[in-house]
Amino acid sequence: MTENLLITGAAQLLTVRGDAPRRGNSLSNLGLVKDGAVLVSDGKIAAAGTRKQVEARKGAKEAEKLDVGGRVVLPGFVDSHTHLIHAVSRVEEYELKIQGASYEEIAKKGGGILNSVKKLRAATSEALKLRARAALEEFASYGTTTVEAKSGYGLDVASELKILRLQRELKREQPLEIVSTFLGAHVVPAEFRGKPDGGERYVAVVVEQMLPDVVNENLAEFCDVFCDRGAFPVAQSRRILSEALAHGLAPRLHAEQLSHTGATQLAVELGAASCDHLEHVSAADIRALANSETVATLLPGCDFHLGWKNYAPARKLIEAGAIVALATDYNPGTSPTLSMPMVLSLACAQLRMTPAEAIAAATINGAYALKREKQIGSLEVGKQADLAVFEVEDYREIPYYFGMQPCWMTMKRGEIVYMRD
Ligand SMILES: [Zn+2]
Repeated sequence: MTENLLITGAAQLLTVRGDAPRRGNSLSNLGLVKDGAVLVSDGKIAAAGTRKQVEARKGAKEAEKLDVGGRVVLPGFVDSHTHLIHAVSRVEEYELKIQGASYEEIAKKGGGILNSVKKLRAATSEALKLRARAALEEFASYGTTTVEAKSGYGLDVASELKILRLQRELKREQPLEIVSTFLGAHVVPAEFRGKPDGGERYVAVVVEQMLPDVVNENLAEFCDVFCDRGAFPVAQSRRILSEALAHGLAPRLHAEQLSHTGATQLAVELGAASCDHLEHVSAADIRALANSETVATLLPGCDFHLGWKNYAPARKLIEAGAIVALATDYNPGTSPTLSMPMVLSLACAQLRMTPAEAIAAATINGAYALKREKQIGSLEVGKQADLAVFEVEDYREIPYYFGMQPCWMTMKRGEIVYMRD
């Protein structure tokens, strides 16, 4: 058995090489190589460049060969915002939304996130795991090789830990990389609502009970808060994320999705890894993000699914110099998709990003948002051999053919994890 694999026949190889993160004009630099090849050794990239260059490398001759037949090869997508583990879809709310009920009206009637919480608490670990495993296979089939996953449908100590422990098991039992985020502060659960100081009392549970357990069991790298109208105000979000930081968890935030709250300024103040959604950012927020290392993660799948017209101002963010990433926000309420190609289509059509910008935002900048830009997100020597091969001749056709399944093969750490029949 040979240790090396030589991949040839890439009509276009998008290396996405160079400095990370990408801001401004550099976002559209994909490091495109025609007639490209990749040499994989022990799950890592030993060479990536033109076929001629790579074939001349040591170990290339003896390597096992894989000809991708003129397709397009790029880094595997890094989906840096998902709610992977949930019990069931919320399809019953979908029709209500189409008929005009607002997200917040549905939430007030016990629908929305609280509906998913009720279902998750009642679900067995086995059922949750089975559903998440199927989703992860589906992620791989769309070219995704790394998935961030948040808790947040448990909202009591046992249920939040149940989700994060399942994520840890899944990390070991299947090939995709899972990056865990603790989102105990998703919304205030039903049992605390309507009580005096219910929100404050729940925040105390998050900080004093959940967080220490999450840290002791080493169940998450990041801590997230949904800082918005109907969820948590800035002051409570600051308290939770400051405590998380003190415990060694890097902050991230759901910010300015439903209203403008100041969550972006909080994210920048705390040096958050990312600040996600941003439909209602102000000019001052955009400037603050541009002068920070906090990634502006855009989730156009939500606006699309909910039929909203106010997509995040991607062009302003890019032109100001903010680090823009794209993710699915895979979740049962607002963005039931795990297709990064579909997110790229939305980024191009609605956010007015170019195909090149969208691909870099979904790979190297997504990796940066997860503090993994040294290991994944581009095809460069020494990085993990995480790549996706698409059934197109030109990379721009990936977003161009919207709602399609254009992925032909996905590889994680040198192992083929998806291949079209
Ligand atoms: Zn989310």
